[in-house]
Amino acid sequence: MTDIGANLAAVKARIAAAARRSGRDPASVRLVAVSKRVEAERIVTAVAAGQRLFGENYLQEAQAKISRVNELLAGPEAGPEASLDPTGKAEVSWHFIGHLQSNKAKAAATTDFTMVETIDRLKLARALDRHAAAAGRLLPVLVQVNVGGEAQKAGVMPEQAPELLRSLAELPALRVMGLMTMPPMAAHPEESRPHFARLRQLAEEFARQGLLGAHGSPLLSMGMSADFEVAVEEGANLVRVGTAIFGPRQ
Ligand SMILES: *Cc1c(COP(=O)(O)O)cnc(C)c1O
Repeated sequence: MTDIGANLAAVKARIAAAARRSGRDPASVRLVAVSKRVEAERIVTAVAAGQRLFGENYLQEAQAKISRVNELLAGPEAGPEASLDPTGKAEVSWHFIGHLQSNKAKAAATTDFTMVETIDRLKLARALDRHAAAAGRLLPVLVQVNVGGEAQKAGVMPEQAPELLRSLAELPALRVMGLMTMPPMAAHPEESRPHFARLRQLAEEFARQGLLGAHGSPLLSMGMSADFEVAVEEGANLVRVGTAIFGPRQ
């Protein structure tokens, strides 16, 4: 059995240690618990252990699970730890971190995601903007950058990011909060370091050019189970960790 509570505590301790090592405030790093293919009951176990932010990759799976998790949290199964806020409900939030097709933009914009981390093209952004506006929402988003320049990978190429950012600034219902990346698969976490450093440098460059930072200092979403400590050392504000919390996916 995977001890979700113990895993969470260990991951948080490792994030805090990595932040301190690099002279950063551990509170500047938020943990996104990646719950794709993790059932609602186990997500609620993580909520009861104090986790409030989750990441999902697949829209239909996420929609079904978000309702189920809300249902469970409203019932007695959640336990007293899950009911920390005065309304008696734990405030759980969700980031969308998967590949998104433009024809699913309506569902994504109207599901309760507090952020979509994977904007990599204008067509998708326009569709999300239109549906978020129609729903009366402002949708925080990140631009996914293909820092490794890999041919089949999602993400805008670094050279094309400025043009995309300029166009996104014109979309009234989207708020570009920062950048996200998934570096090339690596055998060792240190191999990811230059890619994480590159994302940070790009964010700094784009902020200097006025392309990023309109809504506060840019967020960097980078680092997964295998390399989140290196990502924190290189400036991550959001780390997306699944396996190290929930165990191997089925
Ligand atoms: C699955 C996934 C993660 C988490 O990966 P783990 O190795 O299980 O921590 C992070 N980010 C994205 C975009 C993912 O798809």
